[in-house]
Amino acid sequence: MDCLFCRIVNQQIPTKLIFEDEFVLAFHDINPQAPVHVLIIPKRHIATLNDLSLADLELGGRMLIAARTVAAQLGIAADGYRTVMNCNGHGGQTVFHIHLHILGGRVLNWPPG
Ligand code: AMP
Ligand code: ZN
Repeated sequence: MDCLFCRIVNQQIPTKLIFEDEFVLAFHDINPQAPVHVLIIPKRHIATLNDLSLADLELGGRMLIAARTVAAQLGIAADGYRTVMNCNGHGGQTVFHIHLHILGGRVLNWPPG
């Protein structure tokens, strides 16, 4: 299996790393859609949100806690931000290793396109 984000976890591709713990990595998106655009990924490969199981309960929580930590660290917590996880074609997923987008630093429109 050749997965871009597994290669990032394995340090075969460099990123602008923000945060790392036993479960997750946080790094800046290479093609930012807002002044702050960060991705939180699990270190373990999970292709889509559809593949998340109850065994991943802690991992899901860890991703959210990492999002909160990154928002505070990058100074967008008080103004606000958005978290997004795209799933499959209609959701606009392009990398099939789950990731939580954190977008902030500007007002974001709702509903999204
Ligand atoms: P999605 O469309 O939800 O699957 O999001 C994939 C995201 O990964 C996009 O926002 C890309 O800009 C981002 N991305 C792709 N390659 C890299 C990379 N090497 N480093 C950081 N972000 C990346
Ligand atoms: Zn992967």
